[in-house]
Amino acid sequence: MFTKILIANRGEIACRIIKTAKRMGVATVAVYSDADADALHVTLADEAVHIGGPAATDSYLQIDRVIEAALQTGAQAVHPGYGFLSENPYFAEKLAQAGLVFIGPSADAIRKMGLKDQAKYLMEDAGVPVVPGYHGSNQDAGFLANEAASIGYPVLIKARAGGGGKGMRLVEAAQDFAAHLASAQREGKASFGDAHVLIEKYITAPRHIEVQVFGDNHGNIVHLFERDCSLQRRHQKVIEEAPAPDMPIDVREAMTLAATRAAAQINYQGAGTIEFIVDGSGPLRVDGFWFMEMNTRLQVEHPVTEAITGQDLVEWQLRVAAGEPLPLAQDQLAINGHAFEARIYAEDPQNDFMPAPGTLHHVAFGAGCRADTGVRSGDKVSPFYDPMIAKLITHEATRELALSAVHQALNTTICAGTQTNLSFLSRLCADPDFMQSRFDTGLIERKSASLMADIPPPPFAVMVAGLVMHDIDPQAPRLGWQLWGKFAKTLGLAITEGHLQFNGGQGISLLQDDAVHAFENVTRHGHHISARMGIQNLTALVIKHDRSVLVKLDGEQFSFEGIDPLDASHAQNDNADCVFAPMTGVVSIIQVAAGDTVKKGDPLLVLEAMKMEHVMLSPRDGVIADVFCTASAAVDEGSQLVVLEELAE
Ligand code: ADP
Ligand code: ADP
Ligand code: MG
Repeated sequence: MFTKILIANRGEIACRIIKTAKRMGVATVAVYSDADADALHVTLADEAVHIGGPAATDSYLQIDRVIEAALQTGAQAVHPGYGFLSENPYFAEKLAQAGLVFIGPSADAIRKMGLKDQAKYLMEDAGVPVVPGYHGSNQDAGFLANEAASIGYPVLIKARAGGGGKGMRLVEAAQDFAAHLASAQREGKASFGDAHVLIEKYITAPRHIEVQVFGDNHGNIVHLFERDCSLQRRHQKVIEEAPAPDMPIDVREAMTLAATRAAAQINYQGAGTIEFIVDGSGPLRVDGFWFMEMNTRLQVEHPVTEAITGQDLVEWQLRVAAGEPLPLAQDQLAINGHAFEARIYAEDPQNDFMPAPGTLHHVAFGAGCRADTGVRSGDKVSPFYDPMIAKLITHEATRELALSAVHQALNTTICAGTQTNLSFLSRLCADPDFMQSRFDTGLIERKSASLMADIPPPPFAVMVAGLVMHDIDPQAPRLGWQLWGKFAKTLGLAITEGHLQFNGGQGISLLQDDAVHAFENVTRHGHHISARMGIQNLTALVIKHDRSVLVKLDGEQFSFEGIDPLDASHAQNDNADCVFAPMTGVVSIIQVAAGDTVKKGDPLLVLEAMKMEHVMLSPRDGVIADVFCTASAAVDEGSQLVVLEELAE
């Protein structure tokens, strides 16, 4: 075994690789860009080498600097993770020339599978079913249009060098072909430097099922069963699971046989994935799956395979790269239970899933799951890289239990500071079709309206936000002013108007417009606030940071901003009966008394705070009912100062 390896990657996958290396007693070297100087993977590694600027092209893709870092630190092998240099045959060759081991397949195997068109020719030779279509060299637009017509619409145009769902266009009808061809070619050229495309029959109601394979350099090849990655958005995986639900034994046998044949065809060594597109319109069939592509690396979703097989795939990778035979033979591998993985991203589902980089001031993952992450509380999600925050993985005896566990883990995970897809993932877990394994790659698109809908915060979330914004302990509220025998306070939230009324005995009412929402037995334990509302018991998770409060309730997240105390416009409602103190201060002058008639905008009193005088004005025309303060009294933010008589209807 190696004594020291370098990890040519960042984020969660670098951390995950370091973890296994540590367990095996292998020392680790991290590399990092300017943007990652304080990143978790740098902290976890035994040594770290700076390799350049924040853009990946200036650091993580700099082959010579990565090799120099390995030589300089005495590492014997390099693990590329996924993305970046992981499928770059030139990198594998350069490492070999420098006397370093590439923890992955041979440059030749990467090259053979690197282009989707050539890979399909190879697979045809190996007797593996491939998606019907044209993957030849003729790139004439007219010729390709004819091919598309004879394949039959709908068709999929794919950039042969594509990856990560890029360079792919679905064409429904002949008249759209030319325009989609041009845009797929442009994207292929721009993203991968290769405009060459292939055309495939578009399988309708498809499922994406892939087989994990492993080879060593003693001629052994095994598979570690399948993963179902059909929950996709724009051809990118969102939630993965293993094994595939409702997989008949004979189809599993046919698929895993095709996958090991594919790997054998190129004498494959290390971890690889054979991706199949599968006809999901009915029960799975032995003649209803076709090879799409091979990923010659460790896959993002590898943990679900680890869970159901009880194996550590990174350990397997290190052993195979060090020349050892595969740790287990095929007949020693079995499926145990069911596993799910949900990918948490810093992105905004309400804004077309735009990446939402920023500082994660509070990160805590739910219990009962494996959380693979590259960030801690306070870390930044950088705009330079993939905005993935973490992967949550659950493993239980049955699909139902594993799905419920990942749902629960998502609902109790907090990532505060940026927009995330957490609510979206949680809604997906509760989708009745997904729960009953009735799904294909189009599920998310079909249900996008409800999966991405903007849900207004329920009263409990608003009440909790108000409490937390004012740092009020519901068991012992210390409040400044009493009204009609009860304490009351403005919510102090921007946009959301209303008051909290403290009824004593841990009872709190939320008063909004004409509505009164009463909560009893409101209690707080750390980040949890619970209460009873009628016959319902409610619990929310809350995080406050500066003037922002994040409330999580049943998997939904609600963000509240506190009002700026110096922006009085929020504190005054045009038709309000009450005037509240916008901040903690001292009343210096009182200009009105009960019974006085006032006009809207008349000065009522002067409050001194932060060495400034604030003149509190009447919110409307009316008669003063009561004044709840005396000159030179100290008042709390949000306490009631003056009440006007109610207007006759
Ligand atoms: P997986 O099934 O492992 O998710 P993906 O194709 O989605 O496979 O890619 C995994 C990671 O690798 C993603 O972060 C993606 O951005 C990156 N990636 C995939 N293909 C390429 C490529 N050709 N060039 C650069 N990055 C890629
Ligand atoms: P990438 O290299 O970007 O991962 P793939 O060829 O693996 O490209 O395709 C990505 C996704 O696009 C698949 O997971 C699947 O959902 C969809 N897809 C690919 N080929 C087809 C097809 N022929 N019919 C229907 N869907 C397809
Ligand atoms: Mg793919």
